[in-house]
Amino acid sequence: MTLAGRPAGFTPELAKGPRGRPHRRPDQPADPARSAAPSRWASSITFKKSSSKTPVIDVDTEGRRLRFANGETAEFDLLAYVPPHRAPRVAREAGLVDDSGWIPVDRDTLHTAHAGVYAIGDVTGIPLKMGKPLPMAGVFAEREAKVVARNIVREITGRGEPAVFDGHGECFIEAGGGRAGFGRGDFYAEPTPQVDLRPVGRRWHLGKVLFEKTWLRRWF
Ligand SMILES: Cc1cc2nc3c(=O)[nH]c(=O)nc-3n(C[C@H](O)[C@H](O)[C@H](O)COP(=O)(O)OP(=O)(O)OC[C@H]3O[C@@H](n4cnc5c(N)ncnc54)[C@H](O)[C@@H]3O)c2cc1C
Repeated sequence: MTLAGRPAGFTPELAKGPRGRPHRRPDQPADPARSAAPSRWASSITFKKSSSKTPVIDVDTEGRRLRFANGETAEFDLLAYVPPHRAPRVAREAGLVDDSGWIPVDRDTLHTAHAGVYAIGDVTGIPLKMGKPLPMAGVFAEREAKVVARNIVREITGRGEPAVFDGHGECFIEAGGGRAGFGRGDFYAEPTPQVDLRPVGRRWHLGKVLFEKTWLRRWF
């Protein structure tokens, strides 16, 4: 795979371990020596962020080497990268997005500028009073979906109360080592979102595991 010519903004996160070790295929058993000593590996992981001035212009997967626009190179054992985050082509080509690159919506109903057309989740751009957009998060996507679904049902059946998305959301913040934090807040609060952060602890990690299991059971 060669990624020559990747646009600016291509953001790689490099997980770099000791080189020369055999890489385990998913169907191979884990190496107990590696599993038993995660901290030994963790200390050799580095993070490197590209910028619009120094985007990654090539990934040599055979040689496990990245090349940046400024001529720098970096080696990797495992590369996990985040491609540019943008609205899908279908939304862009339909003329739904504005200059921000996202679909503008009524922040209460998620209705777009087009009659009978709604947008929810990451594809939307909802500016907040503080000047930044509503964070893109699954918790918001889900709540927005419920609001839109209820309002569409109401439009069709004429029954029920109008639903409104209130900008509330929460998420676990994984800290590793069986511990996590938790944040919850009103992101529509003005002039700035009101977010309550709970200290990192084992309880929140267990909550996160339960949360994940609940979702997996519900859908799969
Ligand atoms: C690493 C990571 C960690 C995250 N952690 C959290 C977290 O802890 N809590 C949280 O709330 N959020 C988290 N998020 C954010 C969350 O994943 C997103 O906000 C959420 O998935 C957005 O949902 P969505 O349905 O709007 O978009 P998506 O989940 O991106 O779904 C859009 C779907 O549309 C499909 N699609 C695109 N174009 C077309 C087309 N033309 N035809 C058919 N299908 C198409 C895509 O393939 C995709 O499946 C995280 C995101 C990342 C990347």
